[in-house]
Amino acid sequence: MSDDSLQDTPFPAVERLPLRTPTLLPATHTNSYFVGRRDFYLVEPSSPFGPEQARLHDLVEARIERGHRLVGVIATHHHGDHVGGAEALRARFGAPLMAHARTRDKLAGRVTVDVLLDEGDADLGGPVGLDLAVLHTPGHAPGHLVLHERSAGWMIVGDMLSSLSTIVIDPDDDGDMDDYIAQLRRMAALGPTTLFPAHGDPIVDGGAKIAAYVAHREAREERVRAAVDAGAGTLAAIVARAYDDTPVWLWPVAAKSARAHLERLRRGHKITRTGGDNAAQWRPAKDDET
Ligand SMILES: [Zn+2]
Repeated sequence: MSDDSLQDTPFPAVERLPLRTPTLLPATHTNSYFVGRRDFYLVEPSSPFGPEQARLHDLVEARIERGHRLVGVIATHHHGDHVGGAEALRARFGAPLMAHARTRDKLAGRVTVDVLLDEGDADLGGPVGLDLAVLHTPGHAPGHLVLHERSAGWMIVGDMLSSLSTIVIDPDDDGDMDDYIAQLRRMAALGPTTLFPAHGDPIVDGGAKIAAYVAHREAREERVRAAVDAGAGTLAAIVARAYDDTPVWLWPVAAKSARAHLERLRRGHKITRTGGDNAAQWRPAKDDET
């Protein structure tokens, strides 16, 4: 099965190891990436499961035995299916965990972040012979990072995109639809080549995929707004209308992103909200209201 071994990618400096993780269906695995042809980073210390960690550790060990150094372990964001193996990697190899400050804060008390990364960090790629730019891309998660290899144009995109599904934006976990769409647009403007997502296969035409994601979000937001315009007032009623093309079993997850769209529409003064989080009622903003 293709999910069980280290996989080459179109770029020799990137190898992919899908590991089984407790993640969100339809995904069942999270990709850990080896980045660098000799000395290397491990991006996404994903799996909390012992047998999966053992496979990862064996591959790291094999590279170290070839004389290559594990420079650091990088987490794109704080979700459990991205950091489940971080503590075990540090214990075994002594490599520091590197992440954004907002990720460190989210993980406090569970996983220790040793080195902070942020937008504009210029020297990340030096130790592994790559031209890596760090992009801070909040939206799915407040501390989300994307790694952009500027000379080859590829990006490691974490959960900004997936080749298996759309991305959940959960306001209860500091997800923000405005930020998410703005960051997708910023990534597209950089003209990426291949995107390496945390879930699923590499995305060869990165720019087209990002454009499709933005278009999907805009279309979904129009459906959410149309549902409110048609009189749906509660989140459940809005999801039933705006996601009637989506299997019902996905609606609890869809409701998170729907709420992120509702908050974005409210901030844009397109709709209004009354009631608290648990009893919110949404309705169209009328021109004669201020
Ligand atoms: Zn995530």
